[in-house]
Amino acid sequence: MDMQSSFLDRLFDSGLLIDTGVDGLYGRSGQFEDVISAFERLIDKFGGADGAEAIRFPPGMNRAFFETSGYMKSFPQLAGTVHSFCGNELDHMSLLKCMEVGDDWTKDQQATDIVLTPAACYPLYPTVAKRGAIPENGALYDLQSYCFRHEPSKDPARQQLFRMREYVCMGSEKHVTDFRQSWMDRGVEMMKAVGLDVTIDVANDPFFGRAGKMLANNQRDQNLKFELLIPITSVAKPTACMSFNYHQDAFGTKWGLNFADGSVVHTACVGFGLERIALALFHTHGLDVKEWPESVRKTLWG
Ligand code: 5GP
Ligand code: ZN
Repeated sequence: MDMQSSFLDRLFDSGLLIDTGVDGLYGRSGQFEDVISAFERLIDKFGGADGAEAIRFPPGMNRAFFETSGYMKSFPQLAGTVHSFCGNELDHMSLLKCMEVGDDWTKDQQATDIVLTPAACYPLYPTVAKRGAIPENGALYDLQSYCFRHEPSKDPARQQLFRMREYVCMGSEKHVTDFRQSWMDRGVEMMKAVGLDVTIDVANDPFFGRAGKMLANNQRDQNLKFELLIPITSVAKPTACMSFNYHQDAFGTKWGLNFADGSVVHTACVGFGLERIALALFHTHGLDVKEWPESVRKTLWG
């Protein structure tokens, strides 16, 4: 058995994760959630004084915004859309017949106005753009959302529905790149405080197809994405538990995010993969939180 499925089995056996029959879709125990809540309080401790505006969007977003975002150009393989039955009584009868005989009943489902949120920051840009000009000294937002990515896997660190906590910064190039650097430093400090071994490395998003390879290389060459990596199911290939993304003026241009003088703002976002961080803690310190090192327990629970 490989390391990924054996860790997953141990998580199921301990009750920390609950099998739903679908790879990458898990229930979580109270104990697992308590670790995530404690880590989120630690994030608040590090980031709270920055005065970010907290906003919580549901795990689904406006399909029109999703279309404008260009997500389907870059990551069609990961997207999830919400479809519903929109027919009449006759259609309903044929739907039930279809289900009864085991045929594909989903093919007549119609797209709704909602798609599943692919990253916590996606609903933010159009929301902020609607409000008007960005202040000269920039803007900062604190987000958390369940995100969906269609990538079923036996690796417990690759889930299809997982939570992402994000800080998003808008402002001048210097303002947002300083923000990103400060969170790289804070990320290392935070993980050290909870006894996790980390490295930071340049990274790229999983752009689709042959054209995607060029986009990925470009992103790497320009150091637009860094990840904070922690060993979970492999030491040779540690898992990205945080990412630090500089979008240049791409989102500013796309969404019309401008300063009062009309110039386009730059944006950056920093994301914490909350399930991955909890899994890194359980993998490193053991499945029983009572046995975790005192210093780690103190950092998380005081
Ligand atoms: P990014 O937008 O950089 O791909 O994702 C931000 C963060 O979300 C990642 O650094 C990671 O911690 C978390 N994340 C990304 N994909 C997955 C996934 O498939 N499963 C889980 N649990 N977390 C993920
Ligand atoms: Zn983001």
